Amino acid sequence: MTKRKEDRRQIVVIGAGASGLMAACAAAEQGASVTILEKTEKAGKKIYITGKGRCNLTNACDIQEFWGHIVSNPKFLYSAVYGFDARQMMQFMEDNGCPVKIERGDRVFPVSDHASDVTKALLQHLRGLKVQIRYHCPVQNIEVREEDGVRRVTGVKTVSGERIDADAVILATGGRSYPSTGSEGDGYRMAKSLGIEVVKPAPSLVPVRTREEWCAQLQGLSLKNVELTVDRPNEDGGRKKKKPLYKGFGEMLFTHFGISGPLVLTASCYMDFDAHPEGFTMHLNLKPALTAEQIAARIRREIDASPKKKMAGVIRTLFPARLAELISQMSGLSERTAASVNDKEIAELTDLIRDLVIHAEGTRGFNEAIVTRGGLNVKAFDPSTMQCKGINGLYAAGEVLDVDAHTGGFNLQIAWSTGRLAGESAALEYEN
Ligand SMILES: Cc1cc2nc3c(=O)[nH]c(=O)nc-3n(C[C@H](O)[C@H](O)[C@H](O)COP(=O)(O)OP(=O)(O)OC[C@H]3O[C@@H](n4cnc5c(N)ncnc54)[C@H](O)[C@@H]3O)c2cc1C
Repeated sequence: MTKRKEDRRQIVVIGAGASGLMAACAAAEQGASVTILEKTEKAGKKIYITGKGRCNLTNACDIQEFWGHIVSNPKFLYSAVYGFDARQMMQFMEDNGCPVKIERGDRVFPVSDHASDVTKALLQHLRGLKVQIRYHCPVQNIEVREEDGVRRVTGVKTVSGERIDADAVILATGGRSYPSTGSEGDGYRMAKSLGIEVVKPAPSLVPVRTREEWCAQLQGLSLKNVELTVDRPNEDGGRKKKKPLYKGFGEMLFTHFGISGPLVLTASCYMDFDAHPEGFTMHLNLKPALTAEQIAARIRREIDASPKKKMAGVIRTLFPARLAELISQMSGLSERTAASVNDKEIAELTDLIRDLVIHAEGTRGFNEAIVTRGGLNVKAFDPSTMQCKGINGLYAAGEVLDVDAHTGGFNLQIAWSTGRLAGESAALEYEN
């Protein structure tokens, strides 16, 4: 016999993003009566733009590698991710009519290449479980009652003043990045008003503004197989005493404001401009696959083959035209004939190629950040249930928490895993 609605645990999920939709699936599968309150006109607005519209929904790498891609608070995520990992997410999608494929770097996408199919699969599953979704329904705050020193959630109040009772509330309002998708940081305000600490949110996986004007001159140029190193703050990069803040290899792009591309986005995860408003010094190695000796030998070969050539022409054999022009200018050798260049000058040119200094002044902000770093302090939540330690019945999932990761499907997997755990726990009712 199925339970009547009023006998079932009433759960309200705030936010119909990746984590909220998955939390609702998990709670309803456990028999709870679930309502999702979503402030915009549709579910999964952010999912729709993920992976350039293809949705890189998870990453099928092995679990040890997975942890290496989590930037903030990986340990907090252990239970959630081991409980519902990338394989299970892939199976979930397959079971709900969205076959998936694995591409380069173990990135997982829907076979259709349509992000909307991921949301459709979740919505179809939710329909089968009779979950109600109310759109245009922004939540103002979470209501909590205190009895005998124990705090317990009683429901939520919407912006329009409606009170909705609940046995448990799952906060899944996302971060602050791409606010046009509905993620405007409301969850931080709601949590703060309940006394939950919020680690200052900052844009992450975000393009970087640079001091150097030459970056803008190279606008549109993309470089593959380069190495980018970020110095620890207040450290002269040349000395390289300590391990750098970040060192990575890959592809980057020059833009009208500075630099972007996968390598730069990843580097941005490690640069805290709030703590270091003076900015960061970066070093770009244009030929990381070659040693200094190999580069110098290569230049020497070009010089010997064409001694009468201008050095601009020699450098042109090493790089795309616009980059070659810049390196020529910076080296001061541009107009010199190749034969006139001595070994010391070749060594200096080699150094320049291996260490082009770029000063990062800030980021492009939340409007262009793929994720938000910071958020609800994970110390306030039980990692085995996602329940708030001080408030029975309050759960959080996804980007609203102080968790973030590299690109590659890891951020969505965090949303699926924490959503799943929060939903299951909320339905099964755990007391603090
Ligand atoms: C351009 C872009 C590309 C990305 N690509 C990828 C990718 O390919 N792979 C990957 O893993 N990650 C990607 N990400 C990151 C990933 O999309 C997020 O980490 C993930 O969507 C977070 O899910 P969430 O459910 O926690 O929050 P969100 O998806 O932000 O959902 C939060 C929901 O809560 C709603 N909401 C907010 N406040 C309220 C309120 N007061 N009342 C009711 N509802 C409210 C919002 O409208 C929204 O629907 C990308 C992000 C961006 C911006």
